[in-house]
Amino acid sequence: MAKHPQHRSIGGRPMHPESLMMSYGYNPALSEGAVKCPIFQTSTFVFESAEAGKAFFEVAYGLRPANPGEVSGLIYSRLNNPDLEILEDRLSLWDDAESCAVFSSGMAATTTSLMAYLRPGDAVIYTAPIYGGSDHFLHHVLPTWNVQAIAMPAGERPEAHEAAIRAALGDRPLGAVLIETPANPTNGLVDIAAMVAMTRRLERADRRAPVLVDNTFLGPLWQRPLEHGADVVLYSATKFIGGHSDVIAGAALGSAEAMAPIRGLRTFLGSMLSPMDGWLLMRSLETLKLRMTAAMLSAQQVARFLRDHPKVQSLHYLGELAPEHPMYEVYQRQCSGPGSLIAFEVPGGEAAAFRVLNALQLVKVAVSLGGTESLAEHPASMTHADVTKEDQARYGITQGLVRLSVGVEHPEDLIADLAQALTQV
Ligand SMILES: *Cc1c(COP(=O)(O)O)cnc(C)c1O
Repeated sequence: MAKHPQHRSIGGRPMHPESLMMSYGYNPALSEGAVKCPIFQTSTFVFESAEAGKAFFEVAYGLRPANPGEVSGLIYSRLNNPDLEILEDRLSLWDDAESCAVFSSGMAATTTSLMAYLRPGDAVIYTAPIYGGSDHFLHHVLPTWNVQAIAMPAGERPEAHEAAIRAALGDRPLGAVLIETPANPTNGLVDIAAMVAMTRRLERADRRAPVLVDNTFLGPLWQRPLEHGADVVLYSATKFIGGHSDVIAGAALGSAEAMAPIRGLRTFLGSMLSPMDGWLLMRSLETLKLRMTAAMLSAQQVARFLRDHPKVQSLHYLGELAPEHPMYEVYQRQCSGPGSLIAFEVPGGEAAAFRVLNALQLVKVAVSLGGTESLAEHPASMTHADVTKEDQARYGITQGLVRLSVGVEHPEDLIADLAQALTQV
């Protein structure tokens, strides 16, 4: 949707996304020379003429194909706004996506995308465990529209579950597949390429089922699902993309074709992001790589400390996967870094986990993740409280499990904090 000169290469060499986050898609000459894109805090845009307004609507509503070089003009901030368009152009660079749509939350991105593809009578396959909000939508909202959710356990081979999933599908057409990898909170991986291949075998000939991947935990730096055959990448931009725990936002990315129904439905649900929040995310994108890299390097040190600590029963961190682990090969093929989310288990169940959480001094006890500050929480009673006890046990969400999102503090200080808190076990 870019309206401005898009220099993506220098001397014939394509530039890296981090080099483009300060300028791409923005023309200072259109904003009084401001080096930064202003906040276009406006609901509507003045047309140069009635004819111009008519032409903008024709393109925006697809009433006629755009003429060569014609871009859809600014109309109304539910349809488009410069802060959102420039943010979408920049966000697209990380996943090398043709099209991006930003949303008022990660849940808005997920639900709008699913509703754009699912129809009453369909089934949707999802990987479990999955983000609590997504789990609720799959199990409590979609059934009211006669859409059935079928689970595929993360951390296992899709082929091993194919016959059971086929049986569960019965006569229902497969409408979409929703993957979250690595799974929250246990870091179980899902082989995206294998899920795409299985989807092609399970979908009906006349009904292509898109594969959607929630890439919140590793993306956009350490995992690029579109390269593994996914159709749509989803983000809670509240997490690493926003990165400062001060904005709720989401995004969906994919080919122009895959995104067309999602962008269209966003216009009519009104689930787009606000200009102010779009501006905040543009500011965040300038330091995305710095933040995610620093947090990941610290997380590797914190994970080594936890791995060797006598009070830590088990550790779930992608950087500590042993080569003999069944998911090690998937990790090597699919991820370019382990990220900064760690889960670890202490003996003594909820009481011991709570003592550790309450003793933390630098790390704050809060849900959410991917911010500059380190946060810890107790999945069984907090983020995953809604998951049945049976599923908690099945997916390794034990009473002693603590999830830690490592921020950009000095790793020695984080380790000192964890060391003193672990004396409480
Ligand atoms: C937080 C989160 C969401 C939901 O995002 P919101 O921005 O809170 O709506 C979805 N998926 C994952 C993996 C998340 O961590």
